[in-house]
Amino acid sequence: RLLAAEGAPGREDAQDRAIRPKTLEDYVGQPAVREQMGIFLAAAKARGEPLDHTLIFGPPGLGKTTLAAIVAQELGVSLKTTSGPVLEKAGDIAALMTNLEPGDVLFIDEIHRLSPFVEEILYPAMEDYQLDIMIGEGPAARSIKLDLPPFTLVGATTRAGLLTSPLRDRFGIVQRLEFYAVADLAHIVGRSAGILGIPMDEGGAREIARRSRGTPRIANRLLRRVRDFAEVRGDGRIDVATADRALDMLSVDAAGFDHLDRRLLLTLIEKFDGGPVGVDSLAASLSEERGTIEDVLEPYLIQQGFIVRTPRGRVVTRNAYLHFGLRAPDRGGE
Ligand code: ADP
Repeated sequence: RLLAAEGAPGREDAQDRAIRPKTLEDYVGQPAVREQMGIFLAAAKARGEPLDHTLIFGPPGLGKTTLAAIVAQELGVSLKTTSGPVLEKAGDIAALMTNLEPGDVLFIDEIHRLSPFVEEILYPAMEDYQLDIMIGEGPAARSIKLDLPPFTLVGATTRAGLLTSPLRDRFGIVQRLEFYAVADLAHIVGRSAGILGIPMDEGGAREIARRSRGTPRIANRLLRRVRDFAEVRGDGRIDVATADRALDMLSVDAAGFDHLDRRLLLTLIEKFDGGPVGVDSLAASLSEERGTIEDVLEPYLIQQGFIVRTPRGRVVTRNAYLHFGLRAPDRGGE
């Protein structure tokens, strides 16, 4: 139960597994991350030591889980996967860690959602490979110490700021994943199409890439939906025209924004007069969770220059008005 079970969200089908890169060499884009990890992995391997604990942060779908699996693969060790919210009690994490083989990689997704008890157990485990747990309750309770094999903890989170500082300080390596450039995403969908046997030309790949919100998971998902469209409405080949029509049908607009992105921008413009508005008011108005806005929606809209975060709240930029064919208000001095 503590390991990511089949049937859980995040379950992959065979096609997802086939297109997920297995080595650092196949990991497209993220040049700084790739270069650094290549060096750290080679050094750890040469010394016969486990890799330092590694924290990976970045919005969903940018390749955190993939990178964790690559670390294990490159080190030739096994990967054990779990996630913050699944580990409720100290015993849960203890059970996982006592099952590790020397050098193994323990991947904890959503590590910012660990309970404080579980976090406490992690500190000595990360620092000294020591497990320090209480067994029993009341007067009979006692603490036991166990030695753990040396291992690498890889933690993933959407924002580094969500972690407590004692936890963050215990990671020797911190990697931040950035949104992918269009050329990298085109490379990724091209590679996926090759593996899945989907005929697609460069224009088709580029069109899907351009409209994938800088995110490989979205690019691969759109590829599969565009393939459906091409097979049913066309001859199965994906070119610019097919990709364009399929993506329009899927309500992915020219900037790659989906329904929710547009709703957020329009709400800011129409209900809040362009802002500034606090994230909680925005969340209430959209009936979305604050976390979804901060982790999933905003990062890309900010990176693309459609909204800005100010001390008084979120404000839409001129680009947002232009995107909807609206006239930006004259705010003077801007
Ligand atoms: P996260 O854990 O950050 O939510 P994942 O690691 O699950 O994201 O990545 C989502 C999908 O995107 C993966 O299944 C993989 O196929 C693809 N992907 C992610 N990063 C890359 C990359 N650098 N190169 C190629 N494909 C990638």
